[in-house]
Amino acid sequence: MLGEFDIIRRFFDVDDGARSDVVLGIGDDAAIVTPPEGNLAVAIDGIIEAVHFPAGTPARAVGHRALAVNLSDLAAMGARPLWATLALSLPLADETWLADFAAGFFELARAHDVALIGGDTLRGPLQAVVQLTGAVGTEEALTRHGGRPGDAVFVSGIVGSAAAGLRLLGREGEGDPLTRSFLYPQPRVALGEALRGVASAAIDVSDGLAADLGRLTAASGCGARIDLDALPASDHLARRFSREERHYLALNGGDDYELCFTAPASRATSIDDRARAAGVVVTRIGELTDVEGLEMRDRGRVVTPPVGGYDHFQDGQ
Ligand code: ADP
Ligand code: MG
Repeated sequence: MLGEFDIIRRFFDVDDGARSDVVLGIGDDAAIVTPPEGNLAVAIDGIIEAVHFPAGTPARAVGHRALAVNLSDLAAMGARPLWATLALSLPLADETWLADFAAGFFELARAHDVALIGGDTLRGPLQAVVQLTGAVGTEEALTRHGGRPGDAVFVSGIVGSAAAGLRLLGREGEGDPLTRSFLYPQPRVALGEALRGVASAAIDVSDGLAADLGRLTAASGCGARIDLDALPASDHLARRFSREERHYLALNGGDDYELCFTAPASRATSIDDRARAAGVVVTRIGELTDVEGLEMRDRGRVVTPPVGGYDHFQDGQ
């Protein structure tokens, strides 16, 4: 049976020298780091089995997602991620599970130059809480509150894919592109950094586009009009879901970890250039208005949005 210290040593204290600003990493009572110039952004988010991911989700995906949800929060602030701590609660110490979890976590950490500098290992229900610190410099970070009526609204990637993937999990293998978008979301860190100085407001899409854009507009003191026809499309979704279901998934489906952001319409070309440089597809889906709430338009007509309440997938889940 693996003890707590074996777990830490074998699976988590594996990254010595990952960043030169880590003076002292895992192994003492606290980590010591050298902060960069300017301001820091700090986020913490956890995922719990049977709440944020189904029982039986591959351990590699759990490790990936535990870090991804935090990288996405920092991306929405335009921050550059630096250091993570991990509080991991496990019902039992399964070596294969731990090795896969760590592989998923560190693969994403290395891709974003993040060092794991400490944590806690506990026995309890399966959950992983990650705290992540990033740099935002002295320029203004992105926030939810800078949007103004008339600004264009953009979203990255294909919102709705992760929710579709969650519904297909168990039926489709891990290789299916939709299940992959649920298991291995790609946080838009490069895009978030690139949007500093051009986006007026930003939020990451974790609870569905309607809910998260609603938070951005509430913080910005305005409303938004969304054109359902403009929502990003994908063949993978179109092959399996009706137009109405795709709209429902895009607006309500969580777990996408895409960025929804606003900018004056005059910056649209600059946004396109920056998104291309960051390797991310960005779609203009509407604009901010001075009327509170979200208005949806479909082929030019105002429609009652298929938001919340009724789940079109009740039978299929
Ligand atoms: P303490 O009892 O002093 O809090 P611990 O025994 O909990 O220390 O942890 C020992 C060292 O291992 C510390 O540096 C801690 O940050 C690190 N650590 C514990 N669990 C994890 C984990 N899951 N991931 C990364 N580091 C961890
Ligand atoms: Mg101690």
